[in-house]
Amino acid sequence: MPWLLAMYSVTEARERILSHFQSTPQESIPLIECANRVLAADISAAHDLPPFDNSSMDGFAIRSADSANAAAQGVTLKVVADIPAGSVPTVTLTAGEAARIMTGAQLPKGADAVIPVEDTDFHVRDAGTVAPQTVSFSRIVKAGENVRPRGMDLLAGDVVLQKGRRLKPQDLGLLAMLGFAKVAVHKKPRVALLSSGDELLEVDAPLTEGKIHDSNSYALAAAIQNAGVEVIRLGVAKDTRESVEGLLKKAIAENVDLIVSSAGVSVGAFDFVKEVIESNGRLDFWRVNMRPGKPLAFGEYGGRPFIGLPGNPVSAFVGFEVFVRPVLEKLGGQLDGGRLTVRARCEEVIESDGRESYLRARIRTENGIHTAVLTGHQGSGNLLSLVQADALLIIPAGVKCVPVGQEVEAIIL
Ligand code: AMP
Ligand code: MG
Repeated sequence: MPWLLAMYSVTEARERILSHFQSTPQESIPLIECANRVLAADISAAHDLPPFDNSSMDGFAIRSADSANAAAQGVTLKVVADIPAGSVPTVTLTAGEAARIMTGAQLPKGADAVIPVEDTDFHVRDAGTVAPQTVSFSRIVKAGENVRPRGMDLLAGDVVLQKGRRLKPQDLGLLAMLGFAKVAVHKKPRVALLSSGDELLEVDAPLTEGKIHDSNSYALAAAIQNAGVEVIRLGVAKDTRESVEGLLKKAIAENVDLIVSSAGVSVGAFDFVKEVIESNGRLDFWRVNMRPGKPLAFGEYGGRPFIGLPGNPVSAFVGFEVFVRPVLEKLGGQLDGGRLTVRARCEEVIESDGRESYLRARIRTENGIHTAVLTGHQGSGNLLSLVQADALLIIPAGVKCVPVGQEVEAIIL
């Protein structure tokens, strides 16, 4: 008897939902597959970076003391070695000696600085050029100049990436620098997605009288994938018990962490989703005190958590942002990130009905101050105004009018 269930605030509803989820177990996978995956454990450096003192320029490794009088009278050093990148220097420089050295090559013992080729009398940089017998220059070179000392960036044992971080391309680069061929990450959560409604056509079917294309399953599938989650698209259920039940059973068979549907959870005569859920599971609630997106159901079906988003495309999207995204982050083990929020100054009067409202807006930033303008009418079917928005303004519950100049919270999309 779903009508007996409570209507919660957004915060209460989200907390109730989140309390049912735990992060997925971990697995160890090849580094190349780790982009956008979430670290299951802290990463500590196994060695220093850089791992050895090396040159940051193509030039000559020298003892800086040998350049003490170079500004006044110039200095000529004997070139005793040639050190390409990747080689191990065998010489130890003594007074009056230099070694040609390439960027990234290990500094020889005795050397404490590098003078770039362009500051010497030996300018030839063509590939294959043999090192000269001597090198001359006429400036003072400070100790440490153009040397990247071992451990300058980080030391063995340093925690460089934290558990719960969603890995970015640059993180993969650092992991490779540290020699991590495999990384412990959370398993990718799996979500089954279905639409419902007799009016819905597949995107490639010609539009006929009374019908519309199913857009929710495209927007939601993309949102789920962008959140680093695998989506199993189950298609469109008809407005019958049997059809809704058929797709939900498929979702169970797919062994998913969450079932997400859109539409059919309202109070319409053909809204069978709630009823079918209760026939083989349980509904916790099916309304949230918000706008858009009041008909929003949560429960379980066949032992799997279920979130029923509203049918209207903007409501479905907002419901995703407010309830599903946090679930996907928790399932995925993500502890950092999430959507950025800012305070933005309203450039127009905003009327609300007292429910917590999520309004489509465009944000401008000047001199560090964010201002917000709504993107056209806020009807829950108007997807264009969502496309034109770069933020959702949150008008708190109980507020009926926001005057010009007042700041509200904005979720950056
Ligand atoms: P309902 O929740 O079934 O009452 O649907 C509410 C509104 O959302 C109706 O106008 C539906 O046509 C529309 N709607 C439902 N599902 C979809 C969908 N998958 N794509 C686009 N619009 C939809
Ligand atoms: Mg419907």
